[in-house]
Amino acid sequence: MSKSIVLPKDALQHPIFQLIGKVGHELGQEVYVVGGFVRDQLLQRTQPKDIDFVTIGSGIALAKAVSEKLGPHGKVTVFKNFGTAMIHHAEYELEFVGARKESYDLGSRKPTVENGSLEDDQKRRDFTINALAISLNPDSYGELIDPFGGLLHLEQGILKTPLDPDSTFSDDPLRMMRAIRFANQLHFSIEAEALSAIRRNADRMQILSAERITEEFMKIMRCDKPSIGLGLLYETKLIHRFLPEIAALQGVEEIEGKLHKDNFYHTLEVVDNVAMASQNVWLRWAALLHDIGKPVVKRFDQKVGWTFHSHEFVGGKMTPAIFRRLKLPLGEPLRYVKKIVQQSSRPIVLSQEEVTDSAVRRLLFDAGDELEDLMILCESDITTKNSKKKSRYLKNFENVRQKLKEVEESDAIRNWQPPISGEQIMEVFGISPGREIGIIKNAIRESILDGIIPNKEKEAFEYMLQIGKEIGLKPKESHG
Ligand code: ATP
Ligand code: MG
Repeated sequence: MSKSIVLPKDALQHPIFQLIGKVGHELGQEVYVVGGFVRDQLLQRTQPKDIDFVTIGSGIALAKAVSEKLGPHGKVTVFKNFGTAMIHHAEYELEFVGARKESYDLGSRKPTVENGSLEDDQKRRDFTINALAISLNPDSYGELIDPFGGLLHLEQGILKTPLDPDSTFSDDPLRMMRAIRFANQLHFSIEAEALSAIRRNADRMQILSAERITEEFMKIMRCDKPSIGLGLLYETKLIHRFLPEIAALQGVEEIEGKLHKDNFYHTLEVVDNVAMASQNVWLRWAALLHDIGKPVVKRFDQKVGWTFHSHEFVGGKMTPAIFRRLKLPLGEPLRYVKKIVQQSSRPIVLSQEEVTDSAVRRLLFDAGDELEDLMILCESDITTKNSKKKSRYLKNFENVRQKLKEVEESDAIRNWQPPISGEQIMEVFGISPGREIGIIKNAIRESILDGIIPNKEKEAFEYMLQIGKEIGLKPKESHG
């Protein structure tokens, strides 16, 4: 199934390429475009905004000279420690580096670096498809330099390392995450030798920082079909190192002829379904984590078989530790994911019972802004292969949606503030802050949600007086 790949005619159309080639020539330095830009041009993917240039000589000197030519439109930033420099030009980030040769220590990701040839530089890159270079030198402008068969591998859709895969992955284990990320993004397969090298080197993950792992993992979660990457991460046992809660979902147990479903493969399907319905990466995270409480609370009951009581609650409780470990943002994204995980069965319960107005009101109240996303997750959670069941479940959710709409229209419960405030209660009864206020507010809210009194200020006010009386409070004279 190979297609013939050629460099698009307009690949180097932007005047910046000519300019950089010319400046390099003036300095007596060869210059090449390399890496992701070349790969994505050949694949005709959307143009990346970061473009990498490699030069034989000093990358910093070249960047400074280019920056001078660009004047105010090309401010240069130098990263002396890395021997690199970057120019922001229009919407582009132009990254300059001198060709280098690298050798690695076992203990870290930081190699010893010396100057090298173009080929040395191509060798140190992670995959053959990322090691392609295009010449910007006047005598060979636009020529593709491909010493490791990268072009062929682009056509074949395979990821292969330029050098021995074991040392490639052992030297910098982030490349294992990148292999899986590219396999997912490009729908490529990882060559068999490389895949088994990843399995052999999974242990090396321990030298990576959580931030780097998470950066690649987020790219996998943003793919159109994250199950490809998640499946590979499981198969190579990489995910066991940074998200053991997900690995623990795998497996089917049987007691007395009763089986439960494999929650790992189920979860992959749910994540894919959510990815089809929403671009919100945190909703995908909620899908990923929605069943992590199950292995923890799993029990076998003689009468009913397998049970997973309160698994949503337990899963929600487990979420902050995962966010902390992976250095994920602890603010709004954590609050959101935890909430969705904890509520992830609510609409399901509703869809199975006769739906009462008060149950719907409670869901509206509890889910608030997250209601729509919660519904997406629940619909995505239907992974039965029985098409009759599937359409019945979907129909049930449609009913829930309809009911939610009706109740919302009549009661306006979403993001609702109960009609009586704490200040009002204090004012009416002439009391200072204390537990009575909580009791009264609670009683009012519960009665409205249960449909005992309508969501109206007048009725709520009367109800407040009644509850106040019951707990021994008297209204101040003026409110008599
Ligand atoms: P994208 O920008 O879509 O993430 P990319 O291939 O451009 O993909 P970058 O991280 O921008 O990835 O890196 C640019 C290039 O640098 C890569 O194409 C590759 O040649 C090289 N590279 C990046 N990370 C590594 C690594 N860990 N090991 C070896 N080479 C790498
Ligand atoms: Mg890039």
